[in-house]
Amino acid sequence: MFRQFMQGRYGPDKLGMVLAGAGLGVSVLSWFLSKAAVAYSACRVLSILLWGYAVYRMFSRNYAARQRELAGYQQFESKLRALWQKVRYGKQNIINLRAEHKRYKRLNCPQCLQKLRVPRGKGKLLVTCSKCGCKFTAKS
Ligand SMILES: [Zn+2]
Repeated sequence: MFRQFMQGRYGPDKLGMVLAGAGLGVSVLSWFLSKAAVAYSACRVLSILLWGYAVYRMFSRNYAARQRELAGYQQFESKLRALWQKVRYGKQNIINLRAEHKRYKRLNCPQCLQKLRVPRGKGKLLVTCSKCGCKFTAKS
């Protein structure tokens, strides 16, 4: 019976799952907003729309249109992923820089201005520039 009904229909896909999940998320969110009438109603309506759209897509017979939507969604998702990676790596870089700053002191060679780093907390060091070979003492 159900199988016959679903014959030739698009059925669930990843976008359908995401829509249903988002609808559920919004309706859970609305529980916390029950004191704010406008926000509550907006969340209810939004969750019904999301669910309605998910169900509509599932029972749709227009494969081409649904496939286009899925492709569009996947493009959007990969963009979102790339953005997230950027944010994550950016944060990691800041953490790395801070860790390095704790362990090393940055110096410039007095002759050629080459950037050098020496370990911190070692007292007075005789530093040899890696570029021009000039030797100088520095506090670490
Ligand atoms: Zn130098």
